[in-house]
Amino acid sequence: MEQKRDIRAFTKEQLKEYFTSIQQPVFRATQVYEWLWKKGATSFEDMTNLSLELREKMKLEFVINHISVDEMQRSSDGTIKNAVRLYDGKVVESVLIPTETRITACVSSQVGCSLDCHFCATGQLKRMRNLNADEIYDQVVAVMNEAETFFSRPLTNIVFMGMGEPLMNYKNVLEAIEKITSPEGLNMSPKRITVSTVGLAKMIKKLADDEVKFNLALSLHSARDVVRDSIMPINLKNPVAELAEALKYWYRQTGKRVTYEYVVWKDVNDQPEDIAALVKFCHHIPCKVNLIEYNPTDDERFQQADDKVLNAYIHALESKGVVAKVRKSRGKDIDAACGQLANKNEVVNTNS
Ligand code: SAH
Repeated sequence: MEQKRDIRAFTKEQLKEYFTSIQQPVFRATQVYEWLWKKGATSFEDMTNLSLELREKMKLEFVINHISVDEMQRSSDGTIKNAVRLYDGKVVESVLIPTETRITACVSSQVGCSLDCHFCATGQLKRMRNLNADEIYDQVVAVMNEAETFFSRPLTNIVFMGMGEPLMNYKNVLEAIEKITSPEGLNMSPKRITVSTVGLAKMIKKLADDEVKFNLALSLHSARDVVRDSIMPINLKNPVAELAEALKYWYRQTGKRVTYEYVVWKDVNDQPEDIAALVKFCHHIPCKVNLIEYNPTDDERFQQADDKVLNAYIHALESKGVVAKVRKSRGKDIDAACGQLANKNEVVNTNS
């Protein structure tokens, strides 16, 4: 028997084409889109503004796939980590991060990651596949529901800082954001969404050309090629000067400042020349620096630098007018913090 297609894999355009092909009015596409992406319908029976006959027909042709949250862990600081099971049994993680003023969803874009940043636990997993747009969207909805259930507050922000490199899954990430921001979908403002990248110069320019409305963050960690090359292999093909050029292009096209994520490690990037290089890099375009606390993984080469060095960074940046903030880790006790997402509790992501 031919396998049924997943209706949630359709773009709005594809839905229109489908309804036209079966001699239905084109507004059916909007109706079905809203059922799927605004109201979260899980069956065709729910779609009560379609005729019974049409619902029956669609049921024979399509399935409506959904992810499931297999396991939920809660941190003593309120952070929640979800192990999310995909349709093919693979597992990714997503995180709810509560603060006094915000509830942020941190979502994954790939199963595993191909980048191999030496300090990141996700980098130790192989990249297995890209997530579909609906699998990304579903992670957001799961966190949205948890925000209501456990905090009685709405989800306010979304960051693409979970597993994987969002710009290596460009099409599906943008398609998911379309469903999240569209008035016919979740209707969230793109200003509340941040996509974080390891720094793929070409793709940063593509984002600018596509005139995206969400925010961009760059995982910089060093503004010196010798250092960045040694901790993030992707820098060999995307050296610091090329990143700077791509960021200038981004800023010219979008007028939006960029956030740089930066961890300071002992004996890696704790010298005056490291600080000077970052300060210089920060003058390419308006930006903000988030100094992230290091979350230890199994690799002992990396250790958080002393507060003294951190303060030297902040002082140097602020004296040149650059906004710098120290970001404390959240959810460390459940391995939910940056760079710790590695499906520690799971044994299912094998390549078999
Ligand atoms: N691939 C994207 C999305 C991952 S975001 C990117 O690289 O931006 C995850 C963030 O956590 C990145 O800024 C990453 O550099 C940072 N990170 C990775 N491992 C970390 C660790 N052990 N401690 C703190 N931050 C880490």
